[in-house]
Formats: sequence, C-alpha cells, structure tokens
Amino acid sequence: MQVLIADEYGFCFGVERAVEMVEEALQEGDTVRTLGPLIHNDQEMERLATHGVSTISEPVQIQRGETAVIRAHGVTPQIEAELREKASKVVDATCPFVTKVQKLASRAAAQDRHVVVVGNPDHPEMIGVFGYAPEHAFVVNNAEEVAALPRLRNPLVVSQTTIKLQNFYDVAEAVKAKADGETQIVNTICSATRDRQDAARALAGEVDVFYIIGGRHSSNSRKLLAVCKEQCEKSFLIETEDEINSEDLRGAKRVGLTAGASTPNWLIEKVGKKLEEIGVSFENELALT
Ligand code: SF4
Repeated sequence: MQVLIADEYGFCFGVERAVEMVEEALQEGDTVRTLGPLIHNDQEMERLATHGVSTISEPVQIQRGETAVIRAHGVTPQIEAELREKASKVVDATCPFVTKVQKLASRAAAQDRHVVVVGNPDHPEMIGVFGYAPEHAFVVNNAEEVAALPRLRNPLVVSQTTIKLQNFYDVAEAVKAKADGETQIVNTICSATRDRQDAARALAGEVDVFYIIGGRHSSNSRKLLAVCKEQCEKSFLIETEDEINSEDLRGAKRVGLTAGASTPNWLIEKVGKKLEEIGVSFENELALT
C-alpha cells in the first residue's frame, strides 16, 4: 500500500504568513490577541492558545499593553484605526492579495467611480474591502444581483479572493451592460484554493482511499472533500490522525493525501506518521517546510 500526496496541499501563502507573524510577536514576548480566529483550524488554534494567543471579537476588548493581530482576511480602515488606538502594537497580517483588492477599491472610490466586488457580502474579507469604499461599492454574489444595481459610473470590478472564475466573468459582463463610461475589470482571485482542488482532482482517480486533512468548518477543506469524492468514493475529511480507521484501508493499494489551506504542517506530519505505522509507504516525500 502506497501513499500519494497531491502536488499542492496545506497552508496557503497568506495563512502561513499570518501564523509566522503571530509566532514572531510571541517571540518578542507580546500578549497576542487576534481579532477573530486567526485560522479555520481548531487544532492550530489550540496550539496557539497554549502559547497565550487569545481571540477577541471586538476592538473594544483589546487592552493597552497588548498586541492586536489583524488576520489574513483584513478589516475595514475604521476597525484598524480602533485597534491602533487601543492596542500597544498592531500586527497587520492581511494577506497581500487582499490588500491589493482593498487598495484598488479605495483608489476607485477616490476617483468617484463605482466598485463592484464579486463575493459573499457576509464574508469578513468582503466586509473589510467594502469598508475601503463604503459610498461607492456594491458586493454581489452573482450576475443576477447586478440587475438590482443602479447605473454604474466608470465601474471597477474586482472579486473576493476565493470565488470561481466563471462567476467573476459573468458578473463583469453584467456590469459592462450597466456601465456609464469605461469598465475596469481586475481579476483578484487567488489561485491557492483552485491549485489545491486541481491537484486533488488529478490524483483522485488514481487512488482507492483519499484522506483530506482539514477542519470540518473550513470551507476550502470541505470543497476538497467534494472534489475527491467525485472520483474516489472512499474520501474522508479528517481533522487529526486519530480519525484514520484502518478498516477503510482494507484492500487499498493506493492512498491519496491532501490538506486544506488552513491545515498546519505539524498535523499533516502526524497523519503521515500514523499511516506509516499502519504499514503504508510513501511514494513521494511529504514536502513539509
Ligand atoms: S487563500 Fe489566497 S488570498 Fe486567501 S489568505 Fe490564502 S493566499 Fe491569501
């Protein structure tokens, strides 16, 4: 029995960077409080909690002497200003891909242009972006919702970093039809989620069992499970190595392994070790950094 690892798996650039920034603050002896959970992974959150990291839900909860962390999703300028006023230090771990969307929206608003952002208006990333152009921006889930918008002045179309490309282009076309003046379309989708899904899809047809390591409430991990299930019926989303049931591996020749964008390497390593204990060998090395 062999394990095959997907070509792309685990922490995306933005999440890895955010965790590293928190680690650095801890090394400097800071009392670290993150505004919202830093990452959609309970095990990593528990690990950080043992190092003293706690989560707050409102800036008002931060105390002088503490370090506030803005997570990869980013926040509105107002929230950032509140944190800067209350905390002794602010670590801004907004993913640079999200910062780009915020800057584009802010610039367009300063030029008195409309901004259409394709995404889920309730998602923290979208709430943050909207805050950079509150008088000019509309957040829409899909092209149908563009019909309800007013005429759009020289609109800019950007997107949440994790949406589907086709949805983005559909909205962009609908916006063009409503635009007075030129429409600027900037694809701000990040490829991290898609790359992990493509890599899992490429492997799913070749294996008998597929383990996806990730939080059950992590949407990108759940999507990976759905992608794997299309071709490999015995696909399982597991949070830790303890959820591996050796019965599921009975008769299997090849086992696939991948992990969501918020799954830390130490958890992936533990799953790898457990599989080795069960007697599975690795065809390709776990490229953990
Ligand atoms: S998924 Fe992309 S945009 Fe989001 S944090 Fe990761 S690297 Fe940044």
